[in-house]
Amino acid sequence: MKYCTKCGAELLDDAVLCPRCGSLADNSANNGLGVRSGGTNLPAKMNTCSLLGFILSLVGLLFYFNIFGMVSLASVVLSIVGLVQISKNFQRGKGFAIAGLVVGICMFMFCLLVWIMAVGEMAHS
Ligand SMILES: [Zn+2]
Repeated sequence: MKYCTKCGAELLDDAVLCPRCGSLADNSANNGLGVRSGGTNLPAKMNTCSLLGFILSLVGLLFYFNIFGMVSLASVVLSIVGLVQISKNFQRGKGFAIAGLVVGICMFMFCLLVWIMAVGEMAHS
């Protein structure tokens, strides 16, 4: 026999609601909510796209004047793809993706500026 935690009325063992006060009977010990869902503690895989995006953003940083920001643009795209995959599949490498994204965008803007200025110079002469 169990008793209502609110009013102390006697309850049937399988009772869900207290017949006197209507409060929920204390079945929290076996309602299934406390059961741990296993299998989520596996080590997460590193996301390849974010890693590649990060490496490409560094390559773009070194060789920006040769390819007019195309490498940086590619690193931005790869980093975004990486971020999407990471949030979907709970993978690692978010830091790489964000770093690749930031460096890639900065370098692409810089290359664009240099390129626009170079075109402007040519137009003036
Ligand atoms: Zn009660």
